[in-house]
Amino acid sequence: MTAQIIDGKALSKSLREGFKTRVAQLGAQGVQPGLAVILVGDNPASRVYVGNKVKACEEVGVRSFHVGLAADTPEAEVLATIARLNADPAVHGILIQLPLPPHIDPRRVLEAISVNKDVDGFHLYNVGGLVVGNTIFPPCTPYGVQLLLDTTGTDVTGKNVVVVGASNIVGKPMALMLLQREATVTICHAKTRDLAQHTILADILIVAAGKPGLIVPQMVKQGAIVIDVGINRLPDGKIVGDVDFDGVKEKASWITPVPGGVGPMTVTMLIENTLRSAERALRMRQADDYQDWEAPVIHPVTG
Ligand code: NAP
Repeated sequence: MTAQIIDGKALSKSLREGFKTRVAQLGAQGVQPGLAVILVGDNPASRVYVGNKVKACEEVGVRSFHVGLAADTPEAEVLATIARLNADPAVHGILIQLPLPPHIDPRRVLEAISVNKDVDGFHLYNVGGLVVGNTIFPPCTPYGVQLLLDTTGTDVTGKNVVVVGASNIVGKPMALMLLQREATVTICHAKTRDLAQHTILADILIVAAGKPGLIVPQMVKQGAIVIDVGINRLPDGKIVGDVDFDGVKEKASWITPVPGGVGPMTVTMLIENTLRSAERALRMRQADDYQDWEAPVIHPVTG
C-alpha cells in the first residue's frame, strides 16, 4: 500500500480563498478584522514566524498590528501593551510570540490576553474549555490537524488515536479535541516505555515530539492515518518531520508530508480564529450585548 497524501498546502489555499469572502462580508458592515502580534526581543526564528503570520494576514485582508518590544522590556510594560490591545476595538486577536525572554513569566502574560481575543487558544479559559468541549478558540496547530483528518473522510468515533508528544500547545489539546469526538485516545511522551507497543495499535497516529526519524514503519499499523506535526532542521538544512516518511508511506493509508502538511495549516487556523473573533464581536455588538460579551475577569490564584 502507498499512502495517499494529505495536502495541507492545498487545503490551506482553499480555506484562505474562503477567508477573503468573509473579510469582504465583514468589510460591508464596517469591520476590518485585526490581529496584533507581539514580539519581545529579536530571536531570528521568532522573527520569521511573525513575518509569516503578518504576510498571511495581509494576503486575505486581515489588518495586522506588529508590536516589536526590546528583549529587556519589563514584564509590566508587556502587560500594559496587552491591556491596551485588549481595549482596542480594531484588534480582534492578540498573539504573543513564544518563547519570551527569561525575565517574563509566559503564564502571566498569556492570562493577561482577553479571553475574547485569545486567538492562539492558550489562555487557561480556552484550555479549560477544551476539557469540557466548548472552547472559544481551539489552539491553531491541533485545530489544523483536525481539519486535515476530516479531509480523509474518516469518522474518528471509537478509533484508536495515539498522540506522541504531550506539550501544552500541541499534544495535550490534540488529545482533548479528539476525545471530544469520541476517539479512544492514548498520549505518549518522552518517559513512555516501549513507544512502539502503543503506536502499533493506532488507527490514527499523530506525532508531535520534535525528534526526526522517531516513527519508523515497524511502529505503524497497516492502513493507519499518520499525521506528522514535527518540524526539524537537519544539519544539511533539510526540513523533516518526526516520521520516516518514505518508509511509513508504504504502510499508512494516509500521511502528511513535511513540509506541506500541518505547517501551513497552523497559520491558516490563526486567521480562522481571528475572523471568528471579528464575526463574534460584530454579532454581539449588533445584539446590543457588548458589555455581557466583554471578557470575564479571571483572577489567577498565585502562591
Ligand atoms: P515540545 O514542547 O518540545 O514537546 C515535545 C513533546 O514530545 C513532549 O511532550 C515530550 O515528552 C515528547 N517527546 C520528546 N521525545 C520523545 C520521544 N522520544 N518519545 C515520545 N515522546 C517524546 O514540542 P512542541 O512544541 O509540542 O512541538 C513538537 C514538534 O512539533 C516540534 O518539532 C515543533 O517544531 C513542531 N511544531 C509544529 C507546528 C506546526 O505548525 N507544524 C506547530 C507547533 C510545533 P515530555 O513531555 O516527557 O518531555
